[in-house]
Amino acid sequence: MTSAASASLHNSRDKPPRGTPPRAEPPRAELPGNITASRRRALQSRLLKWFAESQRPLPWREGYDPYAVWVSEMMLQQTQVDTVQPYYARWMARFPDIAALAGAPLEEVLKLWEGLGYYARARNLHQCAKVICESHGGQFPEDEAGLRALPGIGVYSAAAIAAIAFGKPATVVDGNVERVMARLHAVEQPLPGAKPALRDLARALTPKARPGDYAQALMDLGATVCTPRNPACARCPWRTACAAHARGKAEAYPKRDAKAARPTRRGMVFWTVRPDGAVLLRRRPERGLLGGMIELPTTPWRARPWSPASARPHAPFVADWRRLPGTVHHGFTHFALDLVVLAAAVEHNDDGMWRRPDAFGDLALPTLTKKLIRHALSHLIQVKEQSVPVD
Ligand code: SF4
Repeated sequence: MTSAASASLHNSRDKPPRGTPPRAEPPRAELPGNITASRRRALQSRLLKWFAESQRPLPWREGYDPYAVWVSEMMLQQTQVDTVQPYYARWMARFPDIAALAGAPLEEVLKLWEGLGYYARARNLHQCAKVICESHGGQFPEDEAGLRALPGIGVYSAAAIAAIAFGKPATVVDGNVERVMARLHAVEQPLPGAKPALRDLARALTPKARPGDYAQALMDLGATVCTPRNPACARCPWRTACAAHARGKAEAYPKRDAKAARPTRRGMVFWTVRPDGAVLLRRRPERGLLGGMIELPTTPWRARPWSPASARPHAPFVADWRRLPGTVHHGFTHFALDLVVLAAAVEHNDDGMWRRPDAFGDLALPTLTKKLIRHALSHLIQVKEQSVPVD
């Protein structure tokens, strides 16, 4: 991933998973005292002028329809602009307005999202469309508070939609904006503790006029000029005002706390085949990681490795489970996952979700499930010869 591409992620998630304990509010850094009214106006006008000359021609910027802005902002969370564009085009062709989305089956919505990851976003889009159609006459609320009351719309998305679609002076802060603020003011406090201070700095610069253009200009600046590595300061409209650039240390900001190592979790997955070739699948619980998505039955995922004997109580059937060679690795944001596949043939059974592999293409499958299917299928021919008995 290029630095520009990685910078184009909206890398602050909107709503933490349910059950996440609230973080203690960290102490706020002192605001730099040099944001005078004239300095603020100068920064705003330089940035808006730069945006008028340099903005990226993105399809959701044609007309700033609230539905289009909302869909694009949800897709852009955790995802690069280049990746989003074909998904956005397919989505708008199939669901051109909020009524079309609200009336679609969830399975079709998830299928269209397939490969984009973080499927809770697709489920929230669908749920939110229903709420807007049923309770708001098909119209988005125009202010941040009203938007935040909707499913899946958190602080970031509410501000972005309010500013871009409705021209409200909302402060939009994602990872790109945090980086630009940290550099512009050379904020010494490290992330994540500096987040409230960086938000305050961003708020202090948000104009009342043209807040939507300003928000997009700032995000574009972070995505294309003030990138995490090798920022293009020579092309930056804020170059002469930037404290980090003046110190010759742009890349040193934002400061960050030392990262904790990403833990690894482990599990065993069950590839269960009927005589007609159908394989047993199941749907994950609605809440939590990959909520509602289709998976192969699995043990829980934990730090300690599983032995076949400890995994057996989690198997869907008592069967002659054989361990397939190799391990499937997958990375989530907060942990890495190593999965071993156990395979078994069982008698005919109609309980549960059985599909033949040639029908998998009709299902909305997350990347992890696809990886496991590919792994299992690539070893099936060898199962009898090379698999390892689990006992
Ligand atoms: S001058 Fe460089 S470091 Fe400062 S805001 Fe512009 S691109 Fe970022």
